[in-house]
Amino acid sequence: MSIRIQGLFKKFGDVNAVNGVSLDVQQGHMLVLLGPSGCGKTTVMRCIVGLEQPTAGRIEIAGKPVFDSERRVNTPVNERNVGMVFQSYAIWPHMTVFENVAFPLEMKGLPAAEVRDQVEDMLAVVGLSAMMTRGASALSGGQMQRVALARSMVMRPSVLLFDEPLSNLDARLRDHLRVELRELQTRFSITSVFVTHDQQEALALADEVAVMQAGNLLQRNDPISIYRRPSSSTVAEFIGYQNVFPVEVQGERDGGTGFRIEGIDRAFVAATPPGRGSGGTFACIRPGDIVAELAGDASTALASNQVRGEVTLASFMGSHVHLRVRLDEDDKVFEVFDKSVDPAMRVGARVSLTIAAGAILLLPRSAA
Ligand code: ADP
Ligand code: MG
Repeated sequence: MSIRIQGLFKKFGDVNAVNGVSLDVQQGHMLVLLGPSGCGKTTVMRCIVGLEQPTAGRIEIAGKPVFDSERRVNTPVNERNVGMVFQSYAIWPHMTVFENVAFPLEMKGLPAAEVRDQVEDMLAVVGLSAMMTRGASALSGGQMQRVALARSMVMRPSVLLFDEPLSNLDARLRDHLRVELRELQTRFSITSVFVTHDQQEALALADEVAVMQAGNLLQRNDPISIYRRPSSSTVAEFIGYQNVFPVEVQGERDGGTGFRIEGIDRAFVAATPPGRGSGGTFACIRPGDIVAELAGDASTALASNQVRGEVTLASFMGSHVHLRVRLDEDDKVFEVFDKSVDPAMRVGARVSLTIAAGAILLLPRSAA
């Protein structure tokens, strides 16, 4: 195990920024911390790297304790061998690309020839060989972020931490660098923790995703499992279940679980029983799992798991049209990704929505 965090707490005054988090990351794996702004992600990273002293807990890197509140271990930042790449590029604008990457090696006192070899190798890895002599301030955002990446990797850290490093880049570059980063991280088997508030980024990069909220770890699992089986409606919302409605569970029906969505006087069935937890039960449905059809006569009876409403937004996304549908009852709104891309489903169109029982998860607000 390359990083092991046990019972980590960090208080700022009476704010519990990190509230008892335990995590481990295997050698060569990428763990992604996913959660909204303010949930404690950066604080966890700063505790690992040593920029923040935890209130309590234990942190081990590559088998060695670097922080232990009970045994009073607190290894200084420069002895932890942890690299960090931040959201802001944090490179030196008055230096060239080469000088930026060479700097940490020179500080270490390496001979010039060795510095040159290592910097050239690393710049080739991140695709910046042609820009070695360019001033760093003349680079694009994506290039600056590659310099920052090269500079943190050239030190061969035993772990590398990424704090939203792609969020200042435009969408195309972000998608591109995300794939390259995943490729590099896998090829060099770098043990990493990556922080983001973007679910797609989390799922695309992670060997494991850990979802955080208000200082707490809600769930951790591999990306496919967490996507398919969130343990609570809170986690579901973070990972793309855009339709979350409070329900009243009615018991077994048609081989599944019968329920009612609050405010809608219709029968629904979910294929599986409700998950265990507290804070009420919620139906969680992904927009891509709802089938929209132009509604014929308004008097046509609806089957179970069907509702009717009016399109209030139609936004073409390429592979699908994002429809927002306001139900006739209770003004409830469903987000739907219509893969048939039917131009007739425009704003004002009357549609019926069908949700397969297998596409509905009944989840507690909180799994604990
Ligand atoms: P995230 O990175 O998930 O957005 P942070 O770890 O930055 O969240 O912050 C978690 C909580 O701790 C927030 O409520 C934030 O305001 C608070 N916090 C972070 N750093 C400090 C600090 N140095 N002093 C006081 N409060 C802080
Ligand atoms: Mg942060």
